[in-house]
Amino acid sequence: MCKECFDEEACSLILELVKCVCGRGEKRFVICVCHLELWFCSLAIIESQDQLLWRWTTNGHYSSASAYRAFFIGRTSLCGAKDIWAASTPPKVKFFFRLALHGRLWTAERRRRHGLQAVDDCALCDQQPETTDHLLVACVFAREVWQRLISASGLDHLHHPLSDSRLVDWWQASRTLLPQQFRRGFDSLVVLVSWTLWKERNAGTFDNTSCMPTQTLAKVREEVNAWLAAGFRGLAPFGALL
Ligand SMILES: [Zn+2]
Repeated sequence: MCKECFDEEACSLILELVKCVCGRGEKRFVICVCHLELWFCSLAIIESQDQLLWRWTTNGHYSSASAYRAFFIGRTSLCGAKDIWAASTPPKVKFFFRLALHGRLWTAERRRRHGLQAVDDCALCDQQPETTDHLLVACVFAREVWQRLISASGLDHLHHPLSDSRLVDWWQASRTLLPQQFRRGFDSLVVLVSWTLWKERNAGTFDNTSCMPTQTLAKVREEVNAWLAAGFRGLAPFGALL
């Protein structure tokens, strides 16, 4: 007990309050008094008017700029986010690629991890777990598509994807090897090919169809022409090469 550090007036007030709530002679009454004493001893009560303080500025005053900055507290950065934002692609495909960079595509590996299916084999090669990085760059099927595409575009100085490549690493490393004026178009091309591979994967998973890398490459060319016709001119430097 710590009655000596308890204000006498406050103590009597609380005791009366607790008696009213619990009644005399009950064990709960003693426990409540002990808890209240401990609580009061830990408080430093200051005799001043309460103040509202804005915690996101050093002077405690509100500003719209600090409120806007507070929206971004705790955010994580996404490598390549600015490049994707500037890429010339349809919005739904841009959104797809952001999900891919975040590892949020519902690949077989992710579905298995969440208990939605028993196996996680890649729908394109049936050899490795179907992660996002595997499906879009590291899969033997995807690598052949990329290699043919790189050769057809005359970009042989770019790194070819390997069996352990990560999408964001390979993409960012490759774009730095290109002249500045080609980078935005290359970003669009990477998104387009990833989108085409994803659709091939979905066709294999849900429609039980299969195709060869050369057929996928033909679909990439069709998609490039369709995007150019729709006004996504960022792909123009590669449209002429493919
Ligand atoms: Zn595969």
